[in-house]
Amino acid sequence: MKVTLAKTAGFCFGVSKAMDVVEDLLSQGKKVCTLGPIIHNPQVVSRLEKRGVVVANTLEEVPADAVLVIRSHGVPKAILEKAKQMDLKVCDATCPFVAKIHTIVEEESQKGAIVLIAGDEDHPEVQGIRGYCVGESFVFNDKEKLQSILESIVDVQEKEIVMVSQTTFQMKVWIDCEKFVKKYYTNVRIFDTICNATAKRQEEAVSLSQSHDIMVIVGGRQSSNTGKLRDVCLPHCPTYLVETAEELDSSWFSNVKTAGLTAGASTPSDIIKEVLLTMSDNVNTTALEQDAPVKDSEEMSFEELLEDSLSKMNSDERVHGTVMAVNPSEVQVEVIGRKQTGYIPVDELSAEPNVNPSDIVKVGDELELLIMRTNDQEGTIMLSKKRVDSLKGWDTVAAAAESGEILEGTITQVIKGGVLAVTNGVRVFIPASQASATRMEDLSPLVGTTQRFRILEVNMHRHRAVGSIKSLYKEERKEKAEALWNSIEVGQKFTGVVKSMTSYGVFVDLGGADGMIHISELSWSRVKHPSDVLSIGQEVEVYVRELDKEKKKISLGYRKEEDNPWEIFKTDYKVGDVITVKIASMTTFGAFARIMDGIDGLIHISQISNHRVEKPQDELKVGQEVQAKITAIDLENKRISLSIRALLPKEEPVVEEAPAEEAKAEESPVEETSVVEEVPAVEEAPAEETPVVEETPAEEAPAEEKAEEVEAPVEEAAEEPKDE
Ligand code: SF4
Repeated sequence: MKVTLAKTAGFCFGVSKAMDVVEDLLSQGKKVCTLGPIIHNPQVVSRLEKRGVVVANTLEEVPADAVLVIRSHGVPKAILEKAKQMDLKVCDATCPFVAKIHTIVEEESQKGAIVLIAGDEDHPEVQGIRGYCVGESFVFNDKEKLQSILESIVDVQEKEIVMVSQTTFQMKVWIDCEKFVKKYYTNVRIFDTICNATAKRQEEAVSLSQSHDIMVIVGGRQSSNTGKLRDVCLPHCPTYLVETAEELDSSWFSNVKTAGLTAGASTPSDIIKEVLLTMSDNVNTTALEQDAPVKDSEEMSFEELLEDSLSKMNSDERVHGTVMAVNPSEVQVEVIGRKQTGYIPVDELSAEPNVNPSDIVKVGDELELLIMRTNDQEGTIMLSKKRVDSLKGWDTVAAAAESGEILEGTITQVIKGGVLAVTNGVRVFIPASQASATRMEDLSPLVGTTQRFRILEVNMHRHRAVGSIKSLYKEERKEKAEALWNSIEVGQKFTGVVKSMTSYGVFVDLGGADGMIHISELSWSRVKHPSDVLSIGQEVEVYVRELDKEKKKISLGYRKEEDNPWEIFKTDYKVGDVITVKIASMTTFGAFARIMDGIDGLIHISQISNHRVEKPQDELKVGQEVQAKITAIDLENKRISLSIRALLPKEEPVVEEAPAEEAKAEESPVEETSVVEEVPAVEEAPAEETPVVEETPAEEAPAEEKAEEVEAPVEEAAEEPKDE
């Protein structure tokens, strides 16, 4: 037996796209629900159910966490609106051919036209079409019914009437109806909306049935287009409809020399292949024919056959189209001046990977597109937006390379040696050395950011462009530096960013130029290292202490006057106050005690106790808290004298041991001789050792001197390490 497989057998464009939508959602880990079975094929539906796809019959049955996929038949407009009100996540996979009918009937009926629909009244597609009719609509399935409907309309000849058909309506019946209407009702405007896929399938099925002994049709029994295939073949030869290979009956093939095989638009290729192979095994097939060159059945790939049927067109051909629907996997487009339905696969939408189509286009957008290929069998055109964008983009990029214009783009990827940025649909390579102001070891934080860059090099021939973010940064910084030096004044406040630090200070980027905060200006307390106060990258409020515009040096202040501990001390303390202090350090002449952060007072050795003290360590320990009396305050020289002794009980003179002249002293009151007059607290300390509040370690050079050493001219300070 010779078996001929129809070229048009299997998934049509609309079903294939709807299946892609479901597959895409499943691959994203989404929960999927379809309103009714996604296609009229029980095997496919059952496989999907096993993968978690829920089939709901009403919107109320749709799980709240699922994405509702509208199948290729479409639904009445009211259903979509209700789903929106219910806040359901909807993915509309209505076939563009069906969507086109929705548009026609909605527009025409809004203008007052009566709509006549050729089709099956109970079919979901027809119900969906009626759901877009604003006024009266009627459904007919043959010429007689059409005639009776027209005759029932009052003043029918005066009325605006349009006639459309279900996409899978039988072509022959449609032609009969069309002829009748054209003859008797010239006011009826006819829109031939039978899907090309259906028409082609039917034509090929008829042709096969006329030239073969029997026909086998594969597809769901509920599938309208599968049923139509059987109907058109039956008049010409015995025709059998099977859903799967198991339903084949070998008795059908006895004494049969040639068999034709076709399948409905919702039949997956694996089921067709299985039927074909079973027919070969069961009936001792002697030859397998196809319209395409015959292949061994083992080798046969249905997808290959489909691919063969796609004719490549001139890839330079540009068209304009209007976006009709946006799905996660593609964008459907009505191509201006073309009968075919266009679609843009998601990877032909943008040069950026992993885009969400709805972020790029929306329904109603007018697009310029490049034809990738056409499928005459299905009446579809595959289009590309990214290629048109890219072609236009190259012009822009080349012009920018010439003029030095700055472009803006998104960093999409880190690749070997740098990053890729997409601008105007063109991918621009930015080497790592040019990707940032300072060399970054890890470039991944740049991915997803929008960057401005200059094009360094373009090779139109090789479609290669190289850009630099860094060059822009340098120029921008130079411009900012000029602006800053023109306006900067002593006392001016800035918000800057800590750029680097050394042991003597911190460099702060003021936006165009760097200034330096000397370590002594970081805090009112002693600071061992700038990193104790600030960190690299930290935002800081600073003010200009000193300026040298000629040498381009900016000295900054960071510590605030309101935090000056001497100001606080002045208000809160006075001579005579008894306070708790902590011993901070000791010298030969006394102990320094911390009154508050930034202020130490001196307890002279003579004021530690009311007896003679050899060395302060004999009486005190660093860190020890003691009570002391403030005996003197010298704000000008920032000196404070403290006394523990002043708080101690007076010691009785030891009479028997006292020498004669000391015994004399006994006559004087103790206060006059032993405490206050004996040790004037501060004056007795050697000048070089007096507590000049320890703002700057003695070994460090004066602030200004150090600043001069390190504050390089701004240009130099801004210069980054050479990393090319
Ligand atoms: S038969 Fe035609 S109209 Fe129906 S889903 Fe397939 S491509 Fe769309």
